[in-house]
Amino acid sequence: MEKLEQVYEGKAKKVFKTDDPKKFILSYKDDATAFNGKKKGTIVGKGVVNNKMSNFFFQKLEKEGIPTIYLEELNDRDTLVKAVEIVPLEVIVRNVTAGSFSKRMGIEEGKELLHPIVEFSYKSDPLDDPFINDDYATALGLATKEEVETIKDYARKVNEYLCKHFKSVGIRLVDFKLEFGRYDGKIILADEISPDTMRLWDYETNEKLDKDRFRRDLGNVEDAYHEVMRRLGLEK
Ligand code: UDP
Repeated sequence: MEKLEQVYEGKAKKVFKTDDPKKFILSYKDDATAFNGKKKGTIVGKGVVNNKMSNFFFQKLEKEGIPTIYLEELNDRDTLVKAVEIVPLEVIVRNVTAGSFSKRMGIEEGKELLHPIVEFSYKSDPLDDPFINDDYATALGLATKEEVETIKDYARKVNEYLCKHFKSVGIRLVDFKLEFGRYDGKIILADEISPDTMRLWDYETNEKLDKDRFRRDLGNVEDAYHEVMRRLGLEK
């Protein structure tokens, strides 16, 4: 399957048409941004890591009964996916306090929550992805009530699977972001699952193994991404 016209260029990926209108090719870049594009940089090899890690988890999640965009990995950076219409919600799942939650609630990072939280932001660069709730999403027609329920159900199931998998390799899944799309009128998991979109802390030392190393200038960003790949058995 070949890349035709580029339909979209995001911060971390490009999207291309193919000769099948129901299939796109995602191409993962090394470009890194934070704080809604205000900080820019490169994480060498990140595109390859994120492509492979996302595809690994999408295949696992399909087996757990969660439909995803994944079709076929074409090479190190490119993957054939189902062409979806993205639901303009950032679906965030939290297990441990961190980031914007800690700031908003005035709670230090690293506190285990009594149960996982699923929350929504409205995907909008000019508005800096404002925090919204289910009523905003349905009242503004961003998603139907049924879609919101499906999204929350899938998000909780993804969390259960990922928590277990990461725990088995000594990593705490602090929080992460998912995006969903519509395909044949059904909600499926879209976007990516990678250290760009998750907070991953070493269980023993709490060392950060994710994009916070880039956001907060902690150094060894590439090493952290490769460490996660090694622990997942995806790299030597
Ligand atoms: N996240 C993301 N993209 C965004 C916002 C958040 O991938 O545009 C991820 C982020 O990496 C973290 C989780 O979602 O794992 C929760 O992020 P938070 O709301 O704390 O925002 P942040 O502090 O990253 O701005």
